[in-house]
Amino acid sequence: MIPVTTYAKKQVAVFGLGGSGLVTAKALMAGGAIVSAWDDGQGARDAAAKEGVPLVDLTTAKWKSFSALVLAPGVPLTHPEPHWTVALAKSAKVPIIGDVELFCRERAKRAPFCPFIAITGTNGKSTTTALLAHLFKADDRNVQMGGNIGTPVLALEPPHSASFYVIELSSFQIDLTPSLKPTVGVLLNVTPDHLDRHGTMENYSTIKERLVAKAEQSCVGVDDEISEGIARRIERRRYCYTFSTSQDYRKGYHLAGTKVRFETDDMKEDLVDLSAIRSLRGEHNGQNALAAAAALGALGGMLWPARFNPFISLDASLKRRLFEDFSDFQTRMKLPRDKVMNNPAATQRRRDALQAAFASFPGLAHRMEEIGRLGPVVFINDSKATNADSTAKALATWDRDIYWIAGGKQKEGGISSLATFFPRVAKAYLIGASSDDFAATLQGKTEIVRSGTLEQAVAAAAADAAASTGPEPVVLLSPACASYDQFKNFEIRGDAFRNLVEGLPGIELVARSG
Ligand code: ADP
Repeated sequence: MIPVTTYAKKQVAVFGLGGSGLVTAKALMAGGAIVSAWDDGQGARDAAAKEGVPLVDLTTAKWKSFSALVLAPGVPLTHPEPHWTVALAKSAKVPIIGDVELFCRERAKRAPFCPFIAITGTNGKSTTTALLAHLFKADDRNVQMGGNIGTPVLALEPPHSASFYVIELSSFQIDLTPSLKPTVGVLLNVTPDHLDRHGTMENYSTIKERLVAKAEQSCVGVDDEISEGIARRIERRRYCYTFSTSQDYRKGYHLAGTKVRFETDDMKEDLVDLSAIRSLRGEHNGQNALAAAAALGALGGMLWPARFNPFISLDASLKRRLFEDFSDFQTRMKLPRDKVMNNPAATQRRRDALQAAFASFPGLAHRMEEIGRLGPVVFINDSKATNADSTAKALATWDRDIYWIAGGKQKEGGISSLATFFPRVAKAYLIGASSDDFAATLQGKTEIVRSGTLEQAVAAAAADAAASTGPEPVVLLSPACASYDQFKNFEIRGDAFRNLVEGLPGIELVARSG
């Protein structure tokens, strides 16, 4: 845990006592703050009381005495309307912040130059965050991964100059972090999402832009118009590491076939070949891999001292750290500096190490996760795909022989937007409440089986795929629906799929994802 010392002896209101709120309250207490915690739900208040967190009814509290209101990111700050605590804090002129702001202040105080990589975007945040953390670990760094991805940021180890903080941030978290200034900011993409909570697309994209605009180094995906606009605005002021899945993009990081390529006017270098990396299947994962490669590049040589100038536009202390790092690299390679710079064998070793690091990424559970193989048939758990957009990414990954398990509690628009992919589907196995609607959309486009339950669907799809003569038939759970009609959440749905696949006679399982 990171004791928050920047509010020692001050009174702080904490609202929203879920997982991260509870950690926030305790971290503030550990640093000497006087905490007044509250939640609208009795259950959350009881849980907090059990943990020794002091509860104060914030509806009647003396707001003028608070130095800050620390809000959980799930609590509405602006839309659909400000939560009552927000209104009370504003009228008492109490600053409203989140746990990531407390982390930033603590980092500024304890270890201002420890590498802090912040990742945001509408899609792919968790995959990119986990991939980057994995790459740093493969380079023997002390990695602290958290934020929106699971571990609340204040539950990580206290900031230390030798630790790499790889932090996933949602727009809600960015909105509550006024002093956010990461070493490297990564923005993957911006498409309409959470507009109920941000009001307008403009408001949503302005929040996302803040993460990269304020970062010391910025990496921005330019495959959608909004993100491209953000990159152009940054480029008016300074260099921006851009990345694109387009094969025609010629500047920065892009895909060349299945390779991650870095290109400038006078050089190009292929960094990683994604073709055999099962945990990074699909063009969307190409974007995530590009983002990770760009972030490594933006760190300016920590990992690639042979190619990037490690001293670019960085703060003096970070330069010093980089230099130490660089010396460390030379020692490890047992080579003098000029040999490292120009030594083809060292360059090849560095490239091989990077390829091996990407290739050993286990992927994240429930996101295009390969569970196992039965002969040529591959079983994929994409239970996290709770809407048609996400399922589009999965269906785009194979051009034929997809035995597709879909359905559940459907979102507006159903699966009609997926029509271009229907010819790739050998058979669709429908489960859950959306079965009638999905059957109507798929009628005449592909063969339909009304399985009803996941159990029936897996059995039928496995049998049909086994009879296929294609080179790599795929049994794909990518529901394009929420799970609530049959399962508690998408994780439980994905676990149920895994259990069913594990029970198939003769299945060869692959190592479990992170
Ligand atoms: P997030 O953390 O932003 O929700 P995840 O990495 O958990 O993203 O991926 C969630 C789903 O979003 C995946 O199952 C996949 O369908 C889709 N996805 C992943 N990466 C991307 C991307 N770069 N662009 C678009 N969709 C993506």
